[in-house]
Amino acid sequence: MPVPQPTDTTRWRCTLCGNLTRFDVTRSTRVVEYVHLDLAGEPKVEEREVLSEDVESVRCRWCNAVDRIELVDRPGSDQEPGRA
Ligand SMILES: [Zn+2]
Repeated sequence: MPVPQPTDTTRWRCTLCGNLTRFDVTRSTRVVEYVHLDLAGEPKVEEREVLSEDVESVRCRWCNAVDRIELVDRPGSDQEPGRA
């Protein structure tokens, strides 16, 4: 697993430039979709069940580094409310 998964208390950070907020995520997902077509034949997905999901790579939008991601704590995640 090349990319660590963020949790409720952690977030991604680019190890090269420190970007915390903008990434291109390449993800492969297996889903079952409930497709509901109207009388004109126009399809609409009304339900999606995700069977599996893999993040294949994460690219930093700022410096284009690929998979140079680390996990850092979210601000105030494990602390009392009151953000910096
Ligand atoms: Zn970066």
